[in-house]
Amino acid sequence: MQCKYPESLSVLISYLKKLPGVGTRTAERFAFELLRWQPEQLSAFGLQISALPHNIITCQTCGCLKNQNVSACNFCNTTFRDSSSLCILSSPRDVYSIEETRAFKGLYHVIEHLLSPLDGRHATSLRIDRIAQRIEQNGVKEIILAFDSTLEGDTTALYLKEQLSPYSISISRLAFGLPVGSSLEYIDGGTLARALFGRQTV
Ligand SMILES: [Zn+2]
Repeated sequence: MQCKYPESLSVLISYLKKLPGVGTRTAERFAFELLRWQPEQLSAFGLQISALPHNIITCQTCGCLKNQNVSACNFCNTTFRDSSSLCILSSPRDVYSIEETRAFKGLYHVIEHLLSPLDGRHATSLRIDRIAQRIEQNGVKEIILAFDSTLEGDTTALYLKEQLSPYSISISRLAFGLPVGSSLEYIDGGTLARALFGRQTV
């Protein structure tokens, strides 16, 4: 099939289409908009994109994102945060959703993924030892499991509850107000704040 656009433009459009929610028409609109930008703007934009893997790294302690050039992670600062409360999530993106609610002031712990044995995502990669270490180090008294309301979220919550049962801590899970099958990423702040206040012991 003959391509209607010059090759470089087609390639750009195909990259833009990889972004969530961007179809062909939107990708074309973005590409034509970029063609109107000043060369300096384009090069600054390109530089930010190409430097992402170098500039943004994962905090070794909590798994949240941080800039490579700063030593301390914003979310691990126990001077300003309540270290007795630990919120466990499955994506660094979800940390920002919880932060936006302003309803949680504790520490975060991001696990690599939710359990899904069929997809080869097993319990060993949850690194329970790292969670246990943080419970002991910070004197954690409460754990909030902030997982998607899906089968994988349920499985992971049950597994963690079982594994962490030797510790005398309260373990709750976001529940109230969250539609079944929903991703935290798409939940508005108000609903998420209600879910946080209405968390249920698991
Ligand atoms: Zn951290």
